[in-house]
Amino acid sequence: SFDPALPQDEVELAVEGALRPASLAEFVGQHKVRGQLQLLLDAARIQQRPADHILLSGPPGLGKTTLAMIVAHESERPLRLSSGPAIQHAGDLAALLSSLVPGEVLFIDEIHRMARSAEEMLYLAMEDFRIDIMVGKGAGATSIPLDLAPFTLVGATTRSGMLPNPLRDRFGFTAHLEYYDPSELEEVIARSAVVLGIGLPPVARAEIARRSRGTPRIANRLLRRVRDYVIVHGGAGPGRGGQATESDVHAALDLYDVDAIGLDRLDRAVLDAVVRRFRGGPVGLNTLAVTVGEESETIESVVEPYLVRIGFLGRTPRGRIATAEAYAHLRVPEPGGALR
Ligand code: ADP
Repeated sequence: SFDPALPQDEVELAVEGALRPASLAEFVGQHKVRGQLQLLLDAARIQQRPADHILLSGPPGLGKTTLAMIVAHESERPLRLSSGPAIQHAGDLAALLSSLVPGEVLFIDEIHRMARSAEEMLYLAMEDFRIDIMVGKGAGATSIPLDLAPFTLVGATTRSGMLPNPLRDRFGFTAHLEYYDPSELEEVIARSAVVLGIGLPPVARAEIARRSRGTPRIANRLLRRVRDYVIVHGGAGPGRGGQATESDVHAALDLYDVDAIGLDRLDRAVLDAVVRRFRGGPVGLNTLAVTVGEESETIESVVEPYLVRIGFLGRTPRGRIATAEAYAHLRVPEPGGALR
């Protein structure tokens, strides 16, 4: 399925890794969450025990994986990466948990997509650092308890509403990551520009920030496209030395179908469907998903949160509705109103 915030290939993944801040101090924005995490980590360090389990929720690309890496780095513990879809049986989780070294940080991305049977095993593991392994089948089946090394679980989800309460309750700390302000994105971009060795005047930085959909991953990706543009169009030669101009930024971003406020193809398709096809709504999530040819989970966890946040889409009990701002952005006259 389509996810505008996912890296495109392995080279991009490697670059993304290089752009990740390694400490809480370098992590831009999310001040509240940063302060809370700092306290959690400091307390664990003083008592020389693994930190409490941490649940991070929010749309893709806002820094959940990065924070998990920072937790491991700051507490000087090894990190193990896994994901919900990779845990399809309780046995997958048992193998993972029993191989952890004491104090290891275990990151499970998309934790809401883990198998049900594994979820139940995880409850006990999180609480008592113990699991019960079932041996045999039918009447002769017995469970063998197995002690685990203490660990810190960092779970990430784009849909915290999908997590069963017993699982959510076992996290000592839960944080929701919010979209970033343009000024925060400018900070992310400034930092990444240094890493990538590209010079950006402040207006160019602001332009990329405005078009990044509140998402650091998108900001970094657009910056890389601007860098490409500068390389190809001669800017990286001895003459300009990797210096991007404002017009380079416009040219590069227009090429990639990002509009003036950062909406991409799918955002616009969804807005367009609500406004034109369903005359402003209300329209149900599933109908909307079928109309634009996407999975409803993608619409709900990737597209809608941003459109709601910028005030283009409203959620009502009867479905999604378009606001006056959405009509204005699409330049469609509102029914019974004038084009603003
Ligand atoms: P998620 O796990 O939420 O999908 P990631 O942690 O993978 O997001 O972040 C995506 C990219 O955005 C990474 O390359 C990371 O460097 C960058 N990034 C995310 N949040 C921040 C931040 N607060 N400060 C700086 N860079 C960030």
